Amino acid sequence: MVLLSCMGTEFVDAYSDVLDNAEALVSALRAVDPESVTRDNWESELAEYMDALDRLEACETELYAAIFDETSGKGRIREHLRDKVGEPIKSERLARISGISEYARRVRELRNEEGFVIDSTRTRTELGQNDYFMVEIQDVDIKSRLTAQARFEQLERQPQCEICGRGPDNDGVRYLEVDHVESFVDFGDPEAVNDPSNLRTLCNECHHGKSAADNIANRRRGGADE
Ligand SMILES: [Zn+2]
Repeated sequence: MVLLSCMGTEFVDAYSDVLDNAEALVSALRAVDPESVTRDNWESELAEYMDALDRLEACETELYAAIFDETSGKGRIREHLRDKVGEPIKSERLARISGISEYARRVRELRNEEGFVIDSTRTRTELGQNDYFMVEIQDVDIKSRLTAQARFEQLERQPQCEICGRGPDNDGVRYLEVDHVESFVDFGDPEAVNDPSNLRTLCNECHHGKSAADNIANRRRGGADE
């Protein structure tokens, strides 16, 4: 994120709304005598508190809209993911930042259309059930590189390492990577590099072993590293 000396008036206004609602929430809580709340009267006793809580949660999206300077939910997800390359992301946070229930669909669109490489618990078991890991953002205009879609489909087809046979559930495997059998520097045809016949799934350990060997071979030929 671009570092700004000040977030601007929209953020100040949104923050002021959050503070007002937080104070209303505290007042509502103080007005309740917890010893008088029963199974029968809790809804009426806590009505003011629950209204205040709803209003406080409702203004959180406005706060994120000001932070990311984005009025659309998808735009706020895009900005947040850009800031989180190399980090895990909680789905609950994405839901609150976007303010939309279909945040998972927006994440898939970014993955399929805009080159966002995003792992889920299927390929990284350390993640929570609906959480994500923001791997990198690829330039979708560079046709010769592995596309996010081709990577995603390869991991669907072959969810275990093709050298050691381990999957993401095995100890020592931190993540699965999609590897080019023939490195794309060897291809004249940039489309062919994403063909399933040229892709294989490797675990992080086997991938590092293989990539290290590739890079030495590339340097000997005077080629660029992958
Ligand atoms: Zn392996």
